[in-house]
Amino acid sequence: MRDPSTPFRRIPSVDEVLKTAPALAAIDRFGRPSVVDAVRAALDDARHALGNGAAAPPPAEEVAAAATRRLEAESRLRARPVFNLTGTVLHTNLGRALLAEAAVDAATAAMREALALEFNLADGKRGERDDIVRDLLCALTGAEDATVVNNNAAAVLLALNTLAGGREAIVSRGELIEIGGAFRMPEIMARAGATLVEVGTTNRTHEKDYRGAIGPQTGLILKVHTSNYRIEGFTKEVPAKALAEIARGAGVPLVNDLGSGTLVDLTRYGLAHEPTVAEAVADGADLVTFSGDKLLGGPQAGFIVGRRELIARLNKNPMKRALRMDKIRLAALEATLRLYRDPDRLAERLPTIRLIARPRDEIAALAARLLPALAVAVGPGYQAAVTDCASQIGSGALPQQTIPSAGIAIHPARGRSGGALAALAAALRALPIPVIGRIEDQAVVLDLRCLEDEARFVANLAGLSLGKGV
Ligand SMILES: *Cc1c(COP(=O)(O)O)cnc(C)c1O
Repeated sequence: MRDPSTPFRRIPSVDEVLKTAPALAAIDRFGRPSVVDAVRAALDDARHALGNGAAAPPPAEEVAAAATRRLEAESRLRARPVFNLTGTVLHTNLGRALLAEAAVDAATAAMREALALEFNLADGKRGERDDIVRDLLCALTGAEDATVVNNNAAAVLLALNTLAGGREAIVSRGELIEIGGAFRMPEIMARAGATLVEVGTTNRTHEKDYRGAIGPQTGLILKVHTSNYRIEGFTKEVPAKALAEIARGAGVPLVNDLGSGTLVDLTRYGLAHEPTVAEAVADGADLVTFSGDKLLGGPQAGFIVGRRELIARLNKNPMKRALRMDKIRLAALEATLRLYRDPDRLAERLPTIRLIARPRDEIAALAARLLPALAVAVGPGYQAAVTDCASQIGSGALPQQTIPSAGIAIHPARGRSGGALAALAAALRALPIPVIGRIEDQAVVLDLRCLEDEARFVANLAGLSLGKGV
């Protein structure tokens, strides 16, 4: 038993705390069971504080306030919006493409209301969900037919399993990519039930290498866009067109995995040329696979476009059902693809293109406007300055190319410890809308290419709390 004269005896009881005004307000917001749990946790903290030498226990109101703060922190969504100031427009860890307003509206309607999803409004009969985007995809790519699945990894898996399950798939050694995580081409092949036949060498693959590998067991030839690296120097790859001729001559399908795949010529926006889906189709690939949430700027999706009889075989594979798209993303996808019917206005309507094409001078002017507010927010322990940045598209699109951009670099003031930089990055991440920059040359760099809501950014900074003496 504790000595009754100790402060432990004066810690309020759970019931006392629950009767206070702040606790009653919290019960209104969060419900009684959650508040009881939070009050118990806050009382545990108070007991620990006393054990560590605190002079007196907190009054009941203070315990209730602590419990409320705990509940507020817990009730914040894990999947919550952040400011992506990494300089990478399509950041896989931050959700890749931002959707166009038209796509957001379509997705919202699809969530709230019943949808003509697998229902043909013309004749009242059952329809196919892919019909929603099939004609659009064919029109935009020049392909005969199209199907949609969960993402491009699923598209590749479905194509391999359908055309090369129990058979061989021929790939150049220079194209055996790893995209990230567990997406490695040899492993996808194995899971698809296809036997990988590697041809050529890491840096050079010739037409004769492919010809020599084709045999009675060949299910398909796979060409993979080396989206996240480039092999340079003494290199040789067989262009898609020549590969299509070899495939056609041997009577085996050619599948071209474009990865990002764009529907417009990016040179329009001052970028290097990235092969378009229409070009890949015109070059003779029997199937072309690409992503929905990379350069295309839509929701997560995987497309397979190409020859009608092959698409029909993919659609009959039971795997297709397991990999299909949901109604919310299909609705967003249709609205996104429709924007491509008016390419001249794409840059104003599609955030991915708008952000990639955003002029450096506009971003630099934004940086100059924000600098004073940031300098005040970080306080005298840090120095903020406008800086040049090099943005990236990300998600494996044009890995070699950076886009000139501008931002703000924040350095710890002279004489501060090494922890000051990490403390700043952590404080920015702890804001109501977390700010995600990158650490570079002993500074936190905020590339402002993807910052569009200036007022919201400034208001958010008011919550910045940098502990003293780090
Ligand atoms: C990104 C990429 C994939 C995977 O696409 P997800 O849509 O992320 O599943 C596959 N192949 C290539 C070449 C890629 O660049």
